[in-house]
Amino acid sequence: MKLLVTGGYGFIGSNYIRYVLQQHKDVEVVNVDALTYAASLATLQDLTHEPRYQFVHADITAVQQMEEVFAQGVDVVVNFAAESHVDRSILDPSRFVKTNVLGTQVLLDAARKHGVQKFVQVSTDEVYGTLGNEGYFTEETPLAPNSPYSASKAAADLLVRAYHETYGLPVFITRCSNNYGPYQFPEKLIPLMIIHALEDRPLPVYGDGQNVRDWLHVKDHCAGIDAVVARGKPGEVYNIGGHNERTNLVVVQTILQALGKPASLIRFVQDRPGHDRRYAMDPTKIQRELAWQPKYTFEAGIRETIQWYLSHRSWWEAIRDGSYQAYYQQQYGER
Ligand code: NAD
Repeated sequence: MKLLVTGGYGFIGSNYIRYVLQQHKDVEVVNVDALTYAASLATLQDLTHEPRYQFVHADITAVQQMEEVFAQGVDVVVNFAAESHVDRSILDPSRFVKTNVLGTQVLLDAARKHGVQKFVQVSTDEVYGTLGNEGYFTEETPLAPNSPYSASKAAADLLVRAYHETYGLPVFITRCSNNYGPYQFPEKLIPLMIIHALEDRPLPVYGDGQNVRDWLHVKDHCAGIDAVVARGKPGEVYNIGGHNERTNLVVVQTILQALGKPASLIRFVQDRPGHDRRYAMDPTKIQRELAWQPKYTFEAGIRETIQWYLSHRSWWEAIRDGSYQAYYQQQYGER
């Protein structure tokens, strides 16, 4: 089986490629990635000599480049490629619309033209908007995205749905809660806080720190996507989450405690505009219909992740280059 993974040099895509190559000896992976700021070649260095792995440096918005990739023969597509950082989408939404919406449409067209057997769109709980203190997102929850990022992901989901309804393309949409684990770019909450704590720098926490996120270890997410590829029903949406709701403040306190650092490092900063208050997933459908269950508790997963950042210092130090520093200064007004 030939599997096209887009965005495979990013956080989740790289974990997924490693997962698939380990789990399925009959799968060949083609990784298409534009190598934006969010990608690091070091992330998949261990696969340099893997005969079942091929990298194509290409942009999912480029029709001709995608035509060449699909002409090689592709059985299954898993589309991770995206602009993924909410704060950056607030600074400049245009790139998000281009990659997340247009890029998905280019892939859908290529998949249709070349008779791809399965097209999996990796989406997010953020398309559902925000919750109050009670309740969970189900697959029937109406889409109500609040940031340019989540709006672009919701738009892509609707295009994916339309290609199923209009052309009969065998599509699958997965909507996952917040991921954490190895190889996550240092701008995201958990790695940002781990790295700042290690360096005794202030830990910037938005607003009152009471925003709730539902955390899932990236390896559990990969297993969920794998279950959808293997046993999902075309045209269906599957929510993926682990019932690990934590306020941002609790996440930050957990990290500080694990590293033996003082709570005085916490710095409350002005809240993100349109900041969703609470996300929480109901993963009953994927558990019941596809027999998927998360393996990690948040406590075990965060301990392992902290250890990973401690033992992979060179990975994250190398990618905190000049452009990341410039972004960080614009976002938080300090270094
Ligand atoms: P990431 O930002 O770490 O990686 C994105 C990758 O896509 C990078 O390697 C980048 O170079 C590549 N890319 C960007 N634009 C491209 C383009 N035009 N053409 C080809 N490649 C391009 O993102 P991530 O956190 O790994 O997220 C992967 C997917 O999962 C995204 O679609 C995101 O919306 C979704 N998702 C993420 C989370 C999360 O918590 N991180 C949760 C739910 C869903």
